[in-house]
Amino acid sequence: MAAHIIDGKTIAQQVRAEWKVRADALKARGITPGMAVIIVGNDPASRVYVASKVKACAELGLYSKHIELAGDISEATLLGEVEALNNDPKIHGILVQLPLPEHLASHKVIEAINPDKDVDGFHEKNVGALVTGETPFPSCTPYGVMVLLEKTGISIEGKHAVVVGRSNIVGKPMALMLLHKHATVTICTSRTQDLAKHTRDADILVSAVGKANFITGDMVKPGATVIDVGINRNAEGKLVGDVDFASAKEVAGYITPVPGGVGPMTITMLVANTVRAAERLSGFGK
Ligand code: NDP
Repeated sequence: MAAHIIDGKTIAQQVRAEWKVRADALKARGITPGMAVIIVGNDPASRVYVASKVKACAELGLYSKHIELAGDISEATLLGEVEALNNDPKIHGILVQLPLPEHLASHKVIEAINPDKDVDGFHEKNVGALVTGETPFPSCTPYGVMVLLEKTGISIEGKHAVVVGRSNIVGKPMALMLLHKHATVTICTSRTQDLAKHTRDADILVSAVGKANFITGDMVKPGATVIDVGINRNAEGKLVGDVDFASAKEVAGYITPVPGGVGPMTITMLVANTVRAAERLSGFGK
């Protein structure tokens, strides 16, 4: 039987509506949650992401500020921009669109963001909080996956979750979030031997690799939940995930499509983190 397709677009709309209630409650107290996005250079993909972040803010009635900087800007100037946003009371969430041009040290820039405004959840203080327990700002993509699982009614406790990929923005925080919900977690990387042996043992399989058609149906356990984080272009220029959807959906119990799966959730959780940041900074939340 073909898998149930997890509709990320619809779930994202539901979650946005829930967070809009919280944003409206703040606005009724005179506080409009505000997010600032800094983009450096002309990367077309980054521009598309930034535009959709700004649009999502507008949809929920949030204030947003979009700062575009030239690709050859100095590190000192960029750090100055971050500091100005740290001190701007209208801004509750700051994000610097990655990747940055090579001459700029991403780590240094992220560490310069006030951790109470770090809505991407990349600052060491928030990463550390995730490792030891709960962070106020879970990084948006794995946070979106957790909400997708919850809203779809997929139980995590006691399940074997296999995460393919160990990046700081997806794979590692994903594994920690699943672990906190009492999954038994395996993390696979490019050095993993016999990857299919691991993926076939997964009740919940999350792929965050960045290679089209990487996970095929024969690598999926019958009835498993398959979450495809990957965003790739195939040979025809079409947007696809890491998972060969056609073969995997015949085996899986639940599966996310690309587009329309994890993607809409990432942006939704960014908006959620911004509202939470505004609640905390104004003393109305924890
Ligand atoms: P990275 O390139 O930082 O990480 C990719 C990971 O995949 C690495 O850990 C790498 O292992 C692992 N990997 C590569 N080849 C293999 C292999 N043969 N077997 C097992 N593991 C392998 O990517 P990101 O985590 O930033 O992103 C992953 C994908 O998710 C991309 O397609 C990206 O576009 C997408 N993405 C989607 C988002 C969304 O909103 N849906 C948000 C963020 C990312 P190793 O560490 O050993 O090199």
